[in-house]
Amino acid sequence: MLSRRFTIFAALSLLVCVICGILWARSFWYVDGVFRISEKRGISAFYTNDGISYAMFTPDYVTNWSPGWHRPKRSMNLNVADRFVTHSFMGFQFRLSDPAMHLKLIGIPFWFPTILSFIAPCIWYLRRERARRLRLGLCLSCCRDLQGCKEKCPDCGAPIPAQVVSIIVRPELSSQSD
Ligand SMILES: [Zn+2]
Repeated sequence: MLSRRFTIFAALSLLVCVICGILWARSFWYVDGVFRISEKRGISAFYTNDGISYAMFTPDYVTNWSPGWHRPKRSMNLNVADRFVTHSFMGFQFRLSDPAMHLKLIGIPFWFPTILSFIAPCIWYLRRERARRLRLGLCLSCCRDLQGCKEKCPDCGAPIPAQVVSIIVRPELSSQSD
């Protein structure tokens, strides 16, 4: 019922979820990321700040930093939302159509990839739990042992799936044949 491929995908997805969660929490105290300064002193920046992951690209000649890779620091005032963002929605931030400054910016809130990557592990767990209950002949909704029951679960009234019926009927058949 649970293919190996989906299990691997769910495990990787859970790993991504944990990493995003850690970076999300860290982003309120630390800045993770890199700045690349080009030969023409333009900035390409990828960093986290206050729950948001940013990618930002400036035009040339905006900084006097030396070309190469730099580590961003919190003292740089990296919260760009007030200064640069033109569109924002639920933590998503964009700077669109800006002929004067040519600065491009996108901010993705960490809640988005964290929740997205948590979906597959949840589906995996629910499928596994469903398969376990079917295998053991338990009610899918309340987990009651359905041995000797017919059509409906006596506790919660949920209909008994065909797979479970075949399991709970089998012992009677084997005792009749004895
Ligand atoms: Zn039940």
